[in-house]
Amino acid sequence: MGTRIDVCLKCEKEAQIAARGLCYGCYREEERANVAAPRDRHSGALRRDHDKLFTAHTEMMRAMRRGGVNREDVRKILGIMQPYWQPIAAFLRDSVPVSEQKENLFTVHK
Ligand SMILES: [Zn+2]
Repeated sequence: MGTRIDVCLKCEKEAQIAARGLCYGCYREEERANVAAPRDRHSGALRRDHDKLFTAHTEMMRAMRRGGVNREDVRKILGIMQPYWQPIAAFLRDSVPVSEQKENLFTVHK
């Protein structure tokens, strides 16, 4: 209900969250990507767990940001946490070492 401002999991900006921890722009992008390449997993059953993970991930990212954790430590922490995010890893591909991954993994943005 209502509008929710949070840190987008993908572009890492504080913005109005559409769903799954993504801002409207990124959410629409994901939707388009999902339509283009639908997953054959039983997504209904997985969704609830995903939501929990997204929330946890968002909160973790925000906590690190607000705590002033530097890039290198963020990367280490994310490295440790990585197995836990496995179910939603596909959605997070752009959010980990943003500066390094952008070019080769993602060409949707211009
Ligand atoms: Zn976004």
